[in-house]
Amino acid sequence: MENRRKAAKAFTPLSHPAPYQTVVVGGGISGLLAAWDLQEAGFKVTIYDASASWGGCVGRHEVAGVVLDSGAESFATRNTAVSELAAELGLGDKVVEPNPAGAWVWLPDGPVPLPRTGVLGIPSDLGAPEVRQALGASGVLRAALDAKMPVNIGTTEATMSVADLVRARMGKRVLERLVAPVVAGVHSASAELLDVDVVAPGLRAGIRDHGSLAAAVAAQRDRGLGSKPGAAVGGLVGGMHTLVDALVEKLQEAGVSMHLGHKVKAIYRGDIDDAPTPTYDGGEPSPWIVEWEHGTTHGYLAAKLLVMATDGPMAVKLLAPEMPELLPFTPAPGPDIRLVTLVVDVPELDSAPRGTGVLVAPSVETITAKALTHSTAKWHWLADSTGPGTHVVRLSYGRAGTKPADAVRLTANTPTESDLIATALADATTMLGVEVSEADLLGADVVRWQGALPFAAVGHHEKIAHVHSLANDVPGLVLTGAWMTGNGLAAVVSGTRRQIRAVVDASKRL
Ligand SMILES: Cc1cc2nc3c(=O)[nH]c(=O)nc-3n(C[C@H](O)[C@H](O)[C@H](O)COP(=O)(O)OP(=O)(O)OC[C@H]3O[C@@H](n4cnc5c(N)ncnc54)[C@H](O)[C@@H]3O)c2cc1C
Repeated sequence: MENRRKAAKAFTPLSHPAPYQTVVVGGGISGLLAAWDLQEAGFKVTIYDASASWGGCVGRHEVAGVVLDSGAESFATRNTAVSELAAELGLGDKVVEPNPAGAWVWLPDGPVPLPRTGVLGIPSDLGAPEVRQALGASGVLRAALDAKMPVNIGTTEATMSVADLVRARMGKRVLERLVAPVVAGVHSASAELLDVDVVAPGLRAGIRDHGSLAAAVAAQRDRGLGSKPGAAVGGLVGGMHTLVDALVEKLQEAGVSMHLGHKVKAIYRGDIDDAPTPTYDGGEPSPWIVEWEHGTTHGYLAAKLLVMATDGPMAVKLLAPEMPELLPFTPAPGPDIRLVTLVVDVPELDSAPRGTGVLVAPSVETITAKALTHSTAKWHWLADSTGPGTHVVRLSYGRAGTKPADAVRLTANTPTESDLIATALADATTMLGVEVSEADLLGADVVRWQGALPFAAVGHHEKIAHVHSLANDVPGLVLTGAWMTGNGLAAVVSGTRRQIRAVVDASKRL
């Protein structure tokens, strides 16, 4: 790299009025949204994505003729970022709540309904029958101490894991029987590892405001979907991938330069000596030069503003030659997750025997999956489209920070697609309590998400604050995406928009 660069000359900060030539690297939801907000503000945007389709983890696939989400399938409603974006894109009337039947949790002693009024499995109403069923009388008594203890317990420490907070305030049974299964299902990581302030922002502050952890959870749940209290998640009729479709359509209409199958392989500051130095509008020297490859061709693009919206390890790898100070902050890649989607003809599932699905406690050894979503029970629009008797069931495998049977068995033996489908059929039969066999299969698909779900380990908040301050010292650079904003659509959409708004506001002040 060093010999390819003529000079790492200090470049001019953003000092010219928009439109800036902007390059966005990564076309997941964060990159697409950054591109959208920047072009709306008058920036001239080019976006590259290495893969064959837009949306990153908000993907789609077709199984037995049904178009389904292959990654994210819902969004948290603790903020209104996603529903507002949907409305802006003309999808406001497609925002829906899932079936209120709720999910189940599989414990070492069998399945019980998951309390419906929780956040991350932390219950808000200790009097609910499902809470008593899951915890037993002694577990409820211990959890109730939460309301009697001082608010400083769990709120004064600088950083804290989800497990430490729950253990301190509500006890071990709440942690092991409710929180651990939910956290493993949603974040693919152990509650011992996860930074509570990243995965449940505002919850610790809520203890101070409302007097207890249960009350803080209740307050978050009351915010619900927009003005409707209750549902912790929302979805879109047609699937979450329709949000990506709508964004891509808007970007294309707006004339944003969009390039799929273009992997960005290097990023330079200043000039490069073995290629004609690209200039951007007005022939000014380029603060950033992005080198891309597409099959056997490659090229360069000069830009004044660089938005990195890839996963964390890739962002650091691409920027490190120019910003070696980022290297100590390289995030660990997320666990290897496999999603097995089964479309089956099993009329007994019309009664939704396990509500919207099942989360499996990490200590359960008889089930390999970490979670099962009964998609046709969860989303009415999907059941309407498949018709009675036909069901979509999605099982997920792989989690970090625990040593469950699934991590060991599935990663060590590199199972084939048919091994995974056979395992999924066996797990579905156990979890749903209804025989789901190969003969019932109308179609199946296995999607592998490698390192795509980074988890926020304790201390992540501080680490990212540091990365932000390093990036802020470099004019014309924005680092965004789930590793910077927190995982999940609610965090990614609100975080990306906040960052882009700051760039646009700063450009207006010049
Ligand atoms: C299986 C799964 C299920 C999930 N379910 C949910 C859910 O139900 N609800 C929820 O809220 N969240 C869910 N999430 C999390 C959520 O999907 C992500 O947090 C969010 O989509 C991340 O968006 P992003 O744009 O930051 O990153 P990504 O979606 O990872 O996008 C990054 C993009 O960068 C591209 N890229 C990488 N390197 C390069 C390069 N060198 N050059 C060019 N392009 C590059 C990639 O191709 C990719 O498209 C799920 C995630 C997974 C993996």
